[in-house]
Amino acid sequence: MKYKWILFDADETLFHFDAYEGLNLMFSRFGITFTEQDFAEYQKVNKPLWVDYQDGVISAEQLQTIRFQPWAEQLNTTTQAINSAFLTAMADICAVLPGAKELLHNLKDRAQLGIITNGFTELQQIRLERTGLQDYFSTLIISEQVGVAKPDRGIFDFAFSQMGHPDRREVLMVGDNPHSDILGGMNAGIHTCWLNAYGQQVPEGIEPNYQVATLSELNELLLPAD
Ligand SMILES: [Mg+2]
Repeated sequence: MKYKWILFDADETLFHFDAYEGLNLMFSRFGITFTEQDFAEYQKVNKPLWVDYQDGVISAEQLQTIRFQPWAEQLNTTTQAINSAFLTAMADICAVLPGAKELLHNLKDRAQLGIITNGFTELQQIRLERTGLQDYFSTLIISEQVGVAKPDRGIFDFAFSQMGHPDRREVLMVGDNPHSDILGGMNAGIHTCWLNAYGQQVPEGIEPNYQVATLSELNELLLPAD
């Protein structure tokens, strides 16, 4: 295989990330029914915050705080407590995407595997343990810890130093988000594969080297069954 390193995004690339289900579970533990309308309101705040986080305009802590501000007041607790409870709920419902285990199993003796995620520290290790995927990865890079997020090349440079400075031509980045994963890989000078599960159009200025709709398709691309 051409690549000695395969770097994966985490949320919606290896793991389901159903925020509505997670929020539902978390608020039910506070004794509150979280409605679809509540979710729409939450996303109105949360989504632009993620863009600001990717752009380096706000920190991970600001994101975690601002999005739960109205709820913290209502529940008479802190935004940090709610954010923690949310990440606990997300860990409780965590599930791997179809084809992920097979792909990692097939790749593990042929390449080194890593994760670069903009997701939060509290969720990453526990989710890897619970899903039994942790042994596949030799590198886990979390933007909250590095201080810069994808698509900034800084997080990739940090990753490469952890990986022992591999030849960038031998590194592939796989992810579902063209604006962070694919643009990030491009910024870092490595090849990219867009996991485009919903057949979306490629955004302008973003050029993935490959596109697949599923992880099984990626398996076939990297390890053709000739
Ligand atoms: Mg993702």
